[in-house]
Amino acid sequence: MRVAFFGGTFDPIHRVHLRLARAAADAYALDRVLFAPVGNQPLKHEAAIASYTDRLAMVRLALEDGTEPRPTAEELHAAAGNSRDPRFAVSDLDAPHPDGSANYSVDTLAALAHQLPGASLFVLTGADSFLDLRRWRSPDRLLEIAEWIVVSRPEFPLSESHLSPLALTAGQRSRVHLLTTVHEDVSATELRRRLQTGDACPGLLPPAVAAYIQAHGLYR
Ligand code: ATP
Repeated sequence: MRVAFFGGTFDPIHRVHLRLARAAADAYALDRVLFAPVGNQPLKHEAAIASYTDRLAMVRLALEDGTEPRPTAEELHAAAGNSRDPRFAVSDLDAPHPDGSANYSVDTLAALAHQLPGASLFVLTGADSFLDLRRWRSPDRLLEIAEWIVVSRPEFPLSESHLSPLALTAGQRSRVHLLTTVHEDVSATELRRRLQTGDACPGLLPPAVAAYIQAHGLYR
């Protein structure tokens, strides 16, 4: 069983999150991608805007909905319409701690490895996060527990020279896979800014997520 942990703030989940998860699942034959909103991300300067409950609910809706906004004709054909992806699942493994302390990926991944003995574990992450890996807690352990699938992002291109500051050993480098077929300039920060101005961001949010945001008055 090949399982990818896809953590993030998901404030809110958007089209590129879904797109990159699908591309990774296809490219690396993943059986499962676990979308896990984080309770309290230690490296982000600002706390999430929406509550954990709302972020988790939006992820669940996005995965149930299965509609990728604005798919290309090719993707539509491949997905045969709006079918949800059976490889995708929501996970509350990175839920906030009762004492409000930070969620460290190394602890979350160790817990996942314990829950899934025998599985091949992957972490799915954007290049912006991965290039910061040396600031994470226990980066060498993180590279041991899982293989990493790193997705390129405008302003965070991926090449060997971009990886060199991470000083990966040859063994570590062999566990890092670069996915450059998705390269899209979409961020939740920009979406929140647009939502605040009353733009519903059609084409960037799954319809069920857009409806949830509207119904709960989020990001106003
Ligand atoms: P924010 O703008 O609030 O930081 P975000 O969408 O960049 O939001 P997260 O919600 O934490 O950040 O994203 C979850 C994961 O998806 C992270 O690993 C992030 O790097 C990755 N990701 C998000 N957007 C993109 C993108 N456009 N290209 C590649 N990776 C992305």
